[in-house]
Amino acid sequence: MSRSYRIAVIPGDGIGVEVVPEGLRVLRRTAELYGFTVETEQFDFASAAYYQAHGEMLPPDWHETLVGFDAIFFGAVGWPEVVPDHVSLWGSLLKFRREFDQYVNLRPVRLLHGVVSPLRDRTPEEVDFYVVRENTEGEYSSIGGRIFEGTDRETVLQETVMTRIGVDRVLRYAFELARQREKKHLTWATKSNGISISMPYWDERAETMAGQYPEIRADKYHIDILTANFVLHPDLFDVVVASNLFGDILSDLGPACAGTIGIAPSANINPERTFPSLFEPVHGSAPDIAGRGIANPIGQIWSAAMMLDHLGEHAAGEAIVAAIEDILVDGSVAKTPDLGGSATTGQLGTAIAERLQAP
Ligand code: ATP
Ligand code: MG
Repeated sequence: MSRSYRIAVIPGDGIGVEVVPEGLRVLRRTAELYGFTVETEQFDFASAAYYQAHGEMLPPDWHETLVGFDAIFFGAVGWPEVVPDHVSLWGSLLKFRREFDQYVNLRPVRLLHGVVSPLRDRTPEEVDFYVVRENTEGEYSSIGGRIFEGTDRETVLQETVMTRIGVDRVLRYAFELARQREKKHLTWATKSNGISISMPYWDERAETMAGQYPEIRADKYHIDILTANFVLHPDLFDVVVASNLFGDILSDLGPACAGTIGIAPSANINPERTFPSLFEPVHGSAPDIAGRGIANPIGQIWSAAMMLDHLGEHAAGEAIVAAIEDILVDGSVAKTPDLGGSATTGQLGTAIAERLQAP
């Protein structure tokens, strides 16, 4: 039986519209070489243009429209001149994350050959880990409010919510990921010396789970020293799991340590596969360079590799990353301006598609 995947494609705004076609170009070529088919359907919602026409980011039936796909391939959303960022984000991407229960946000921190890390003298062997962020609860709750407003006793409260199910499921995902990796090392972020109720609970659940994985070396770092070590000793890490807020910070810092923002991929995963998972570059719509054909497509293309890995096409996913790396180290291939070259988005995407190796 031939393998076939149905992918919902949402280019969104700005450079999303420019880099998504390059991701698809590479995806289609990989499918040809690796003997599976991808059936894509493109949607114009989750964009500023859609918002201008409809006053909403998504159609009312978006859930039924998307739920049957195997995955969502997403570009970037946001065009502040037309729609404020909090409206575009809450009205689209965060709805997908919540309603499709994509409770794992996964970002590889992997320094590719041919990329200069902002960390001096670091080699690809030393920068190769994952950040696993809890994506649905924790510090980002909307429980709280203001009291005594306008008086000198004005007070603001915002609660952190951690549920046993919510904490355990993201820890479980991270431990399972660590188990599949060579180093079998898991680090969890905490701040239980300062945050005295929720973080000790997070530690307690992590310690309990560590007991179930004797083959994994598990340790914890307070978030402050952890961020310092991302920069000073990235070689200390293999899988790093964190609550929503700490994970948000780490999942931007980590990819930044591995090169330019144009390269980094990410996944919003529903591990149970009840709902489609969503794959998107770390970068946003970049209005400052949009429409000029100079955006780096690698973050989008690498996101396609993560999508294939999630769909079970591991060899095809690895082939994409290998082709990216091959092109990056090849001095004779022109790169986009953020990588110091003068190539267009399409030229770099085409070069990567042509460099793919058959199995
Ligand atoms: P968001 O709000 O969606 O997180 P942002 O608007 O703060 O993102 P980006 O859109 O990611 O930020 O852009 C940040 C900077 O990085 C901009 O100067 C942009 O031009 C640059 N940049 C982002 N993505 C790319 C890319 N693919 N290629 C080249 N430069 C990029
Ligand atoms: Mg933005």
